Amino acid sequence: MIPTAQEAEARLRATLARGSVNLGARAGTERLMLMLTRSCHLRCSYCFVSKTEGGPVMPAAVAARAIDLLMKSERPRLELQLFGGEPMSEWERLTQVLEHATHHPERRGRKLEVILTTNGVLLDEARIAVLERYPVVILFSLDGDRASHRRFRVVHRGPDAAWHEDDAPTYDRIARSLARLKRAKVGWFMNAVLPPSAATEVEERHAWAIAQGVPRLQLNYAVGMRWTEEQMQQYLVGLRAVLLADHERSELQLFNWMSDCEPVVLSDDLIVDVDGTVLHDGAIFLERSFGRLKETYRRGHLDGLDAFDPLRWSLQTLYEVMRDTYPEGSEERGILLQNMRFGAAVDLLIQRVTQELGRPPSRGA
Ligand code: SF4
Repeated sequence: MIPTAQEAEARLRATLARGSVNLGARAGTERLMLMLTRSCHLRCSYCFVSKTEGGPVMPAAVAARAIDLLMKSERPRLELQLFGGEPMSEWERLTQVLEHATHHPERRGRKLEVILTTNGVLLDEARIAVLERYPVVILFSLDGDRASHRRFRVVHRGPDAAWHEDDAPTYDRIARSLARLKRAKVGWFMNAVLPPSAATEVEERHAWAIAQGVPRLQLNYAVGMRWTEEQMQQYLVGLRAVLLADHERSELQLFNWMSDCEPVVLSDDLIVDVDGTVLHDGAIFLERSFGRLKETYRRGHLDGLDAFDPLRWSLQTLYEVMRDTYPEGSEERGILLQNMRFGAAVDLLIQRVTQELGRPPSRGA
């Protein structure tokens, strides 16, 4: 039932032949990500975005041009994802983006969703009330209880705020944000990332989310890190147990059933950096350890782009460019290829459990 390495390789080849991740359940949706800032209160050990405090913030004109580019898509549904760093630390820019996107003349009545990725540290009642006025879904990045949080989510000890000096107030803020969101009207879900050293904790994260009254959950393995065969096996065993438990008695909406973005490391989404450079998103999400992707994954600058839909590379192209960015035998290439195979194994596992339980397929098995 747990895919072998050979089965995962075969699954990867079949997935590459499909052409695009975007051929899945959300094929009618075009998505663009915006890096509003590189500032963040935390320094999570599994985060490979380069964080800088006091660094550049995406100018309003760049954010507006990025939204204009998304609106040029011909697709019937649009999705804007706000990333960082912590996008809530640039609240004024964030609300400008929400206004511009929501009321954009080229939206033409199309469904729009703004996914706001946040660590929750700055999410207070007043801000939630503002977010409720827009088509926002909050992606709440959570590790679970205080001990889990402390293990992987190191507080950035910036000089400017007293509560940076200790992570207890930071976690307290996150816990208060969780309580507020449970009362709020804005849509949200918990996004948990497990690094290799937490490979055995998949069920624990799921159980914590249920105990906290989390309505929707996405469980993820960390990419950009080397997993041992044993750790991958442990993660897959834990994920299978979670899927079976959820099928038996579903206490939240588990997004993992959809499995429409694996292998995650081969994401074909596009992201606009703070300076208006447009790249495939792996270039930003892996930049601290895989900096060369900033050159090979670059698709241009907003100033020189006037169509969105042709920008997205096929999965096969992404695979080849990512693989060939690093020489054969290098550690970087080894990790990236392994992460692809791991993603294919996760996808195959989910499809197998789906078939075994007679659930409607989310993707061709
Ligand atoms: S994962 Fe999110 S919260 Fe953690 S360091 Fe990266 S940007 Fe900050």
